Amino acid sequence: MTKTELMRSVNAAIDKRASEIIGLGETIRRHPELGFKEFKTARLVEDSMRGMGLSPKGGLAITGVRADAAGRGGDGPTFALLGELDGLIVPGHPFADPETGAAHACGHNAQVAGLLGAAMGLLDAKAFDHLAGRVAFIAVPAEEYGDVAWRVAQRNEGKLEFLGGKPEMLRLGHLDDVDMAMMIHATPRTEEGKLAVPISNNGCTVKTVRYIGKAAHAGGMPHRGINALYAANIALSAINAIRETFRDEDTIRVHPIITRGGSQVNVIPADVRLEMYVRGKSIQAIADADRKVDRALRAGALALGAKVEIETLPGYMPMHCDATLVERFRAVAGGLVGADNVGTIAHRTGSTDMGDLAQVMPIIHPYVGGASGTSHGADFEITDPNLIYITNAKALASMVVDLLADGGSVGREVLSRSKPPMTREGYLEFQRGMSRKELYEG
Ligand SMILES: [Zn+2]
Ligand SMILES: [Zn+2]
Repeated sequence: MTKTELMRSVNAAIDKRASEIIGLGETIRRHPELGFKEFKTARLVEDSMRGMGLSPKGGLAITGVRADAAGRGGDGPTFALLGELDGLIVPGHPFADPETGAAHACGHNAQVAGLLGAAMGLLDAKAFDHLAGRVAFIAVPAEEYGDVAWRVAQRNEGKLEFLGGKPEMLRLGHLDDVDMAMMIHATPRTEEGKLAVPISNNGCTVKTVRYIGKAAHAGGMPHRGINALYAANIALSAINAIRETFRDEDTIRVHPIITRGGSQVNVIPADVRLEMYVRGKSIQAIADADRKVDRALRAGALALGAKVEIETLPGYMPMHCDATLVERFRAVAGGLVGADNVGTIAHRTGSTDMGDLAQVMPIIHPYVGGASGTSHGADFEITDPNLIYITNAKALASMVVDLLADGGSVGREVLSRSKPPMTREGYLEFQRGMSRKELYEG
């Protein structure tokens, strides 16, 4: 059987299961969960995998699930297909969980449906009879780096070390045998095409900041207090003032939020908390902006005579897609939706922990259309289920065939051409080195 014939038969098998795959994606969309708490979604994934005859292992980095299928065509690379399990808190989203506020406003539900759909197609078409190596189907927790205070508490209890899903999967060794990886992310930007080839993404550090002031009667004795909220205000102004020192080519993004602004209105705020990311295109650019942001944070404390506790957490690494995988994906995508409908996305200023995987193995992180509205917005919705779920599944499965058919020759070529920047140990050491905590007394 030629590669094209095998792809065609896998895609036909996916079409036969289309309503089931769309149903899975919609079920997940209507039951969103936050990162490291995706227990129901993980159960759905495990049940679905078991239904296909796979033997999933759950509970990886709390909620991750992995099932492997070995090719019967001899040795070859292990190729991981990934789907992210989590939603995020977006006020006003129509399908938000009323208790947690979680919503699928980034389309991760489509990733999981695509992952399961790809597995169904490959298994139903008995593709593994013709493939070398191995495919690891992995549902990963917690790509959205939010809910930070809760995650820090989990870390302090020893339940997590890193606060994102893929870094935790790497740390725990769940990806030790994976040679290369891919996932497909949804995009609501229709101008990017039906399938889009990516280049790179920003990386980031994450900060939790606490201004410590002194409580006092806000009307009667404000002179006895130290206003931590005003200290934070000055820090935010200082951060805004240093924005003009950021170089366009470094694509820096700093976006703080206040998670606690005071205790009650007639008390001078004595405990004010912020969270923020410092994002940038390169490790060096992030480090430079991070240093300036720390300086701005100290300035707020200095002005008011407050204290500030700054905790810097390892965020996500900048992401670069593997050139050979990009080339192969462009051809596969063209075969599915027509070359005119395949877009190219230049550098993206968001961050993803696929960047962390990219440090240690060749990866690709393409996009699929079929959504509209705003990423991370209340108006994010799915408008073309066939594209976002089914074409997605076909693109993943076709990449498996492309890389692992013919004795895995293309997969081997990807590996021989790629030169990941870090070893796995080196990556863990680097990220651990990013952690620091400072108390500055102004
Ligand atoms: Zn997102
Ligand atoms: Zn996302």
